[in-house]
Amino acid sequence: MKANEQNVRERPAFEVERVRRDFPILQRPVNGRPLVYLDTAASAQKPQVVLDEMTRFMREDYANIHRGGYALSQRSTALYDAAREKVARFIHAGDAREIVFVRNATEGINLVASSYGRHFLQRGDEVLITHMEHHANIVPWQLLRQEKGITLGVAPISDEGELDMEAFERMLTDRVKLVSVVHVSNSLGTVNPVEEIVRLAHARGIPVLIDGCQAALHMPVDVRGLDADFYVFSGHKVYGPTGIGVLFAKLPHLEAMPPYQGGGLMIRSVTFERTEFSPPPRKFEAGTPNIVGAIGLGAALDYVSSLGLANIHAHESALLAHGTELLREIPGLRLIGTAREKSSILAFVVDGMDPQEIGAALGRNGVAVRAGHHCTQPLMDRLGLDGTTRASIGLYTTREDLDALAASLRQVL
Ligand code: PMP
Repeated sequence: MKANEQNVRERPAFEVERVRRDFPILQRPVNGRPLVYLDTAASAQKPQVVLDEMTRFMREDYANIHRGGYALSQRSTALYDAAREKVARFIHAGDAREIVFVRNATEGINLVASSYGRHFLQRGDEVLITHMEHHANIVPWQLLRQEKGITLGVAPISDEGELDMEAFERMLTDRVKLVSVVHVSNSLGTVNPVEEIVRLAHARGIPVLIDGCQAALHMPVDVRGLDADFYVFSGHKVYGPTGIGVLFAKLPHLEAMPPYQGGGLMIRSVTFERTEFSPPPRKFEAGTPNIVGAIGLGAALDYVSSLGLANIHAHESALLAHGTELLREIPGLRLIGTAREKSSILAFVVDGMDPQEIGAALGRNGVAVRAGHHCTQPLMDRLGLDGTTRASIGLYTTREDLDALAASLRQVL
């Protein structure tokens, strides 16, 4: 048997009903109804293997890392390091030393702003973002603006929610010292042309940070192929636990960046006169890290990889097309975010109706969606909206979930 034939046999085609059985929460009714969970963009549900591995680890292998010379501490350390290797493989980083464990994507961006930004950016330098950023990729730069006198450039978008690439290129002036853009918009689903963004920025010697929070769970991410300088995502959105996230940074950046928090585990030696820091990534992981979270994240990435991101992407793309068609047929409903390259998000408004009210009414029918500004207030202002109601798709979403959404909307509107 040829190797690829064997792979096909070992990895059965993506079957959503089988996949759903891996998620205990999807098996139990909520308020007496089967759960129609359409809020994966806010946080993904967890497969049994993640829950199992976290409890197994705490039952059998748990100790603090890097401290003890005893067996448990060594095992715990090895598993924590193995989780870092898994993350590196998952996003195709060349070296596990380029993976810093943080709390979430927000902390990853704050780390870059606090360390790289404070150290390398000067008064008058510009950070260029886009109009569709999450607050996590706006506020850290505003804090830096207050502190250092940098400026914040905002590349415009079209009414459909696509980045205006001509304007973006024009805005890449000599003053721009960092570009920071979202890979997939959490409010619109727009997939930004990050390869092109990196190419244009690098042609001018400008490093690029990519907020991959809504990308890492839906499509293969290749930070080396992209040549990204920084890439962040959160564990809880890739079917892992909360409290653990990832900052990828190219090793030379991490080597040049000063630590932004000091304490235990990030040092080589300490005297009252001076401290020598650990090499990256430990230099950026002061204090006891979220060991259990890292182990859980590793299990989640194993799980997602075993299903195959290409399979997940194909499944979700078909669902997005189905959901788009269903919602387009509902009178009075307007889809928000209709970019040509789109992923996983079905956001909408209905004239004369409060998005929160729609969300609450759907919730009473057992359909879990999110309503509001989705931490993208400047984007809502640009679109002239207070907010939207947003259904989002994950690997366990079915056509029936979207049918239930549409049926419930017809009843509510
Ligand atoms: N960026 C994007 C695009 C997001 O969707 C989110 C989460 N909604 C974040 C950043 C922040 O993620 P977290 O709250 O996990 O730090």
